[in-house]
Amino acid sequence: MLNDLIVRTLPLVPRPIVRRVASRYVAGETLDDAVRTLRELNSRGCMATLDVLGEDVTELAETGETVDEYERALAAIERERLDSNISVKLTALGLKIDSAESRRQFRRIVDTAVSTGNFVRIDMEDSSVTTETIRIYEESRNVTDRVGLVLQAYLRRTGEDAARAAAAKANVRVCKGIYVERPEIAFQDREEIRDSFSSVVDRLLEAGSYVGIATHDPELVRRALRTVARLGLPPSAYEFQMLLGVAGEMRRRLVAAGHRLRVYVPYGEAWYAYSIRRLKENPAIAGNVLKGLFTGGR
Ligand SMILES: Cc1cc2nc3c(=O)[nH]c(=O)nc-3n(C[C@H](O)[C@H](O)[C@H](O)COP(=O)(O)OP(=O)(O)OC[C@H]3O[C@@H](n4cnc5c(N)ncnc54)[C@H](O)[C@@H]3O)c2cc1C
Repeated sequence: MLNDLIVRTLPLVPRPIVRRVASRYVAGETLDDAVRTLRELNSRGCMATLDVLGEDVTELAETGETVDEYERALAAIERERLDSNISVKLTALGLKIDSAESRRQFRRIVDTAVSTGNFVRIDMEDSSVTTETIRIYEESRNVTDRVGLVLQAYLRRTGEDAARAAAAKANVRVCKGIYVERPEIAFQDREEIRDSFSSVVDRLLEAGSYVGIATHDPELVRRALRTVARLGLPPSAYEFQMLLGVAGEMRRRLVAAGHRLRVYVPYGEAWYAYSIRRLKENPAIAGNVLKGLFTGGR
């Protein structure tokens, strides 16, 4: 209850304190900060995916800056020989304002990724853009296989989307889904979401898709490992994915056991909005904000 109260009052918490708590979940504000984090993760045997923070822009003018930053990030990954791809939110490229323009901007990023030998994961956002996001993924996939999709287990439609993705041997990240969605379109029950997650992962792996198993839920990790063993898949056929700063111990165990593991690394000036979202998502860690208050946010 105390944590819920903290979450509700989060917007009143001074920025330096949020920054202190957020520093575990966000690489920093600049590309240099991100590069340092990638280097450290790589040295510990983890791959990464870089996310330039900023979603749902209100001005098309802002999208150009995001694309420029992704291009700089791709250049840095190549120059520094880092093991990282990128994750992109189409609303940060203006999908909700002008879908033709967001396609053009996305194409710029994909072209740069192709020319630097990299890969672009299209993050999945709220259900108002699911269909269009899948469409843009499919259009891009017709041009290159250096693009991947995300499917959210909580959406009732995902079974069908997974069947289509499996038939196309798409490269898919499977996650539970983070947005608040209505019961008509999304499962609300924890076990239903878990069962959907496992069935989508199984279906894709059985079809020979490369799957990013994105969860910190130990039960789902166990189930995925059982499927991998049942199918006799090599470690090159799948990867686990986790957020920066979350479930470090499970991450280390998976890496030590020889599984591929990718860490989602957000960075950028929009760190504040991202951090508030993460803290609201997991009230259990909001207690850290309180600790920050007592230790002066340093
Ligand atoms: C690599 C990656 C990419 C993602 N991409 C997307 C996307 O494109 N679209 C989308 O809608 N969602 C995305 N998500 C978020 C995802 O949908 C879930 O909301 C989130 O991962 C929590 O679900 P879980 O499977 O970890 O299970 P949960 O049951 O929520 O969490 C299991 C345990 O993990 C820990 N944990 C989970 N999340 C956090 C956190 N933020 N901070 C601290 N501890 C935490 C807690 O201890 C919790 O008990 C992504 C998640 C990951 C890991």
